[in-house]
Amino acid sequence: MPKTHSPTKRLLIKGIIATCLLSVTRVGFAAALAKVVAVRVWPSSTYTRITIETNTHLKYKCSLLNNPKRLAIDINDINLDATLKKISSKVLSRDPYIKSINVVQLNSKTVRVMVDLKQDIKPNTFTLPPIEKYKNRLVIDLYPSIVASTEDDDPLLTLLEEYKNGEIINKQPEIKVDKNKGKDTPRQKKNTPNKNSPIVVVLDPGHGGEDPGAIGLKNTREKDIVLQIARRTYDLLKKEPNIKVYMTRNEDVFIPLNVRVQKARTLQADLFISIHADAFIDRSVKGSTVFALSTKGASSSAASYLAQTQNEADQIGGVSRSGDKYLDNTILDLVQKTTLTNGVILGSSILNRMKGVNKLHKPSIEKAGFAVLKAPDIPSVLVETGFISNADEEKKLNTAAFQIQISTAIVNGIKDYLKKRKK
Ligand SMILES: [Zn+2]
Repeated sequence: MPKTHSPTKRLLIKGIIATCLLSVTRVGFAAALAKVVAVRVWPSSTYTRITIETNTHLKYKCSLLNNPKRLAIDINDINLDATLKKISSKVLSRDPYIKSINVVQLNSKTVRVMVDLKQDIKPNTFTLPPIEKYKNRLVIDLYPSIVASTEDDDPLLTLLEEYKNGEIINKQPEIKVDKNKGKDTPRQKKNTPNKNSPIVVVLDPGHGGEDPGAIGLKNTREKDIVLQIARRTYDLLKKEPNIKVYMTRNEDVFIPLNVRVQKARTLQADLFISIHADAFIDRSVKGSTVFALSTKGASSSAASYLAQTQNEADQIGGVSRSGDKYLDNTILDLVQKTTLTNGVILGSSILNRMKGVNKLHKPSIEKAGFAVLKAPDIPSVLVETGFISNADEEKKLNTAAFQIQISTAIVNGIKDYLKKRKK
C-alpha cells in the first residue's frame, strides 16, 4: 500500500500511538468485496477474542489510540452489511476489555471497526485460513497490557503472553545428566521432593471459545459438557486433604494445546487429566475410553481418528503461529519411561472406575499421540467420557447425575493410582 503524506492523512493519524499490524497478503486491485459470514466476540478474564469470518482472506490495518482508549481496525474490500453491523450487539457488559464496538463505512471499499476499551490492552491480530466449518477468519485478541497477578496465582495469562511472543514454542525442558542412570533425564520438577507436599492435579476441560469440540445431534457442545464435568471433578478433588487441584480453563475460552501443557508444567503438576466427549463418524459408536500417550502411533483406528481430530483443535480454535515444535520428536525422545508407565497406571485406574458408570468403548486403555498428553514429565491421560455423536450418550452427558458419576470415577481412579504409581 503506498504511503501518503497529505495533510488530511496526517490529521487522521494524529493521536495514534501504535500501529499493530498490517496484513501482509496482497489482494489484487480488482478484488471482489468480501462477504461477512459471521461475527463473534468471546470475552474471558484472560483475553477477549473478536472474530470476523468471511468468504475471502481479509486485508486490514489496525491502530491503537489512547484518548479515548480505542482500537481501530480498517478492513479493505468489504461492505458494511447486516452481519457485520451485528458485531455491536455481541459485546457483553461483563466483557473485561471491551466497552462497545461501532462499525462505519469509511469509504466505498473500507469499513472501520472501532473497539472502545475499558482498559489498556495489547492487541494480537491475525488471519486464519478455512478449516472445518469455519471459513476465513480475522482474529483480534485483546490482552490486558499489564499482567496483574491473578487469583490463585494462575499462570495462564503469562503463558499466553509467552505463547503469543513465540516463547513457548521454543521452551523445552532443561536437561541434566543423571550420572547414576547414565542418561539424560528432564529436569526434576520439584527441587526438594517432600513426602507431605500435596499432589498437584491439573484438570483440562477440552476445547472452548472458538473451538466448540464435538457437537451432538441436539446441538450439545463438547466444550460445555466437559467444562461442567471438570468443575464437578474439581469440587470433589478440592475436598481431598492431600490434593491441590487446578484447571487449564474455567470459562468458555480458547486455550492453545501447548499452553495447556505448559500451564501444567508451570504448576509443577503431578498428573494431568484432559476431559473430552467426542464424536465419531459412526453414530452407533458409544462408551467411555481412556487414553494414554503413545510415542509409536495409535493403538486402534478410532484412537488414531480421535487423536487427529483433537490435535486439530488449535487450527479450529485459531492460533497465530504454526509449526508446533514443542511436539516434535526431540521432545518425545526425552519422555521418561516412568512418566509413560505412570500415565498407563493412571489411565487404567480411571478406566477401571469408569466400568461401574458407563459402558466401555474399549476394555483396556487406548494409546494415541494426543498433543495435550505430551508433557515429558507429567503422567497424562485423556478421558473420553462418552460419544456426543451418539444420541443416547449425548442425552446422558447432559444430566447432572451422569456428570457426577463420571467425576466420581475420575477422583476414585486418581486415588487408586496414587497407591499404585511408580516413584
Ligand atoms: Zn474433544
